[in-house]
Amino acid sequence: HRYRKAEFICSAHTLKQLPDDIGVEVAFAGRSNAGKSSAINAIVDQSRLARTSKTPGRTQQIVFFKIAERQYLVDLPGYGYAKVPLDIKKHWQNTLQRYLNNRQSLKGLMLMMDIRHPLMEFDRQMLIWSQQCAMPVHILLTKSDKLSHNQASATLHKVRAYLNTLSPHLSVQLFSALKRMGIDEARAQLDEWFAA
Ligand code: GDP
Repeated sequence: HRYRKAEFICSAHTLKQLPDDIGVEVAFAGRSNAGKSSAINAIVDQSRLARTSKTPGRTQQIVFFKIAERQYLVDLPGYGYAKVPLDIKKHWQNTLQRYLNNRQSLKGLMLMMDIRHPLMEFDRQMLIWSQQCAMPVHILLTKSDKLSHNQASATLHKVRAYLNTLSPHLSVQLFSALKRMGIDEARAQLDEWFAA
């Protein structure tokens, strides 16, 4: 698969510092600790491309990984970490919203949610913002290994039913970086966005 070649390109603290808005990119977002870094590393088949962090909310930067010529995966800052001061939270929420609305290269959003508590308040906010600009979103219900098979598929169906009420541009799947489950399905979604 092509994601194995992913390499770090740059990181930005503000939207002004982003690389030129040409090409195709897919962004990864989610609450701090949702398993975003682990998901990226599983998808690219590299153990430490995205930094997994024991201190969630610390890395408030936008990181670009190159997949191929003018194709990028973008690691967005995790949101929702309780200990981050409110003004910084608000600043990053505003940055995320502007990025979603204005970035021409952005073709899709991968949204990581811990399967044990999906669709938290800011997750729903992200879905609303993305649907306001008709941005396709694919949700990974991460750490699916934490639930039994039956519980996991019940959650999958519940989340899917909710998404269907919002927009046709939303999809969801089970994922576990630990058990290496759902990785091919996630890559197939990326392939679709990069090919479009
Ligand atoms: P991030 O803050 O969203 O980037 O989350 P991380 O990838 O750093 O993961 C947060 C925590 O969840 C870490 O302790 C990981 O070991 C754990 N974790 C991530 N993915 C999985 C998974 O698939 N299964 C299990 N059981 N734990 C996971």
